[in-house]
Parts: sequence; structure tokens; C-alpha cells
Amino acid sequence: MTSGNAKNHHHAAAPTNASPSAARQRPHVVHSRADYLSALTELPGSVGLVMTMGALHDGHLELVRQAHTHADHVVVTIFVNPTQFAPGEDFDAYPRTLEADIAALTTVGADLVWAPAPEDVYPEAPLITLDPGPVGHHLEGASRPTHFAGVALVVTKVLNLTRPKVALFGEKDAQQLAVIRAFVRDLDMPVEIVGVPIVRDTDGVALSSRNQYLSPEERTRARALNRALTVGAEAAAVGAAPTLVIAAARQVLDAEGGVDIDYVELVDDHSFQPLNAGSARGRVQARLLIAARVGTTRLIDNMAMTVEVRG
Ligand code: AMP
Repeated sequence: MTSGNAKNHHHAAAPTNASPSAARQRPHVVHSRADYLSALTELPGSVGLVMTMGALHDGHLELVRQAHTHADHVVVTIFVNPTQFAPGEDFDAYPRTLEADIAALTTVGADLVWAPAPEDVYPEAPLITLDPGPVGHHLEGASRPTHFAGVALVVTKVLNLTRPKVALFGEKDAQQLAVIRAFVRDLDMPVEIVGVPIVRDTDGVALSSRNQYLSPEERTRARALNRALTVGAEAAAVGAAPTLVIAAARQVLDAEGGVDIDYVELVDDHSFQPLNAGSARGRVQARLLIAARVGTTRLIDNMAMTVEVRG
């Protein structure tokens, strides 16, 4: 597996109160809300929080490694959050592999793992709905209209329960990261949000818990997403306009066959709005985003790039 920045940050910049052997200790694992709150009080110093849905892979572990460089203690949550799944999505089928996840976390070191049941996170049915705003209404928000409200709710609740100094999220879910940044900024939530670059497998496919749904043949087709992003980035690098960057990426997906495109879009990486006639001019920090179905599995991927937007 490849990771642009998996240079063993943990040992390089481990906090002073963590002995090297601490990284190999099994984390303290709790389930109930009461046990979680009490275990948090036993962690003196700052907390770096990594929220996951489990079925952990090296992308998640990279977030944990980087968390060690930002805080004294690392807390990981493992929770398949029902409020971010719509009826008919893969909530029931989503892989749940807690023992393997704890073993994986032991290799990188985590102080505390909270693996709650839905009733620990939602003791009462929530009455509040959080609107993710314009950042969250298109792309994933269009395909999965209740998804970001569910993400915002669970992230807000877990941040409020945990009160970390830093919370780390992957650029794999770039729109989710943008929505969370918007919530934290607009609501003055007292936490620093850190984005972590995408970790890819050796064949270029972005690591994802959902990759295990792919048959070997589908897995081969899934490589087209990263290839399409790379071709789009190459077009952008030689000055192609946004529409041409998108067309170049689409062509790769179409040529592969068996890749059912949901969207290919180029957004301003700050506003997360499409680069088009109304957007900024000049060299714009952009992100090319793909969502596509391979077989029955919906995959997302993205790549940052600089794009020339002319008047
Ligand atoms: P998930 O378990 O899919 O909800 O992901 C938990 C966190 O890990 C999110 O912040 C994801 O963006 C991040 N993540 C998942 N896959 C990757 C990856 N391949 N590279 C970097 N971060 C990732």
C-alpha cells in the first residue's frame, strides 16, 4: 500500500508522554456512553480524534498516525452511523470487524476506542436536523440527500462529547471534509480540523472499506477512477479549461466500460462550488471529483489540481 506521507510520523513526533512501547499496546475499548465519558477523564492532556465506521484499512491508520503528531492522546471512534444512511443503502451490509479493527489500531497505537451501539450515540431520537448548506447540497448531497445532515449530526455530537483539540478527516471524502469545516467555522466549534491526503493501494485505487464488496473483475475496473483523475490532472496541468478537464476524465471512465458514472465534477477547493462561468478567474485551486458505480458498489474518489479558468 502506498501513502504519500506514511513516514512513521508516530515515532518521529510522538508526544513526550508516550513511550515507544505505548504504540503497541491494545487500546482501551469502551462501548457505553458512560464508560466513554469516564475513560476520557482519565486522559490528561490534549486529544486527537479520528472518527471511523470501522473495517479499518491503512487510510484510517494514516489518520491515527497523523493524530499522534497533533495531540497527546489519540481517540478513535468506530460507529456505523445509521443517520447518514438512507433506506436501501448498505447500512446492514456495511462490514463490522471490531476485533480486527482493534488489532490494526494496536499496530499504530491508540489510547481509547469508543465502539458504541446506536442507542449510546442516540439515547433519544434526535429532534434537530442540521442543514449542510450549499457545500453539501450538490454532488454527494444530490445523490444522497440526507447523508450530510446525518454526518453533521454525528460529528457534532461526538465532538461535543469528546472535546478534542484536533479532529482528523480524510480527503478521500473531500466534500464531507468541506461540510465539516463549514460547520466548525460557522458554529465556532472549538476544534481544529485536519485533512489527511488520500491513501491509495499500489494499483492506484483509493483505500475504502467498500472495496471489499468488489469482485476481482470489478476491482480491476475500479482502477479507472484514479486513472481518470490523473488524466484530468494532466489536462489541467497543460492549461485545459474546466469543461475539457472533466471531459478528459469522463473519457477514461467511458472507455473502461462497466463504470456507471454518477458525477464527474470540478469544484473550487475552497467554496466547493463548480468551476464555471460565475466562478473565480485565473489559476484556481480545484478538486476533480468522481462518483461511480462498479457493479453494485458505489465508489468515490478525487484529486486536487490547479485549473486555469479564463473569462
Ligand atoms: P469511514 O470509516 O469511511 O467513515 O472513514 C473514516 C475516515 O477515514 C474519514 O475521515 C475518511 O475520509 C477517512 N478515510 C477513508 N479512506 C481513506 C483513504 N483511503 N485515505 C485517507 N483517508 C481515508
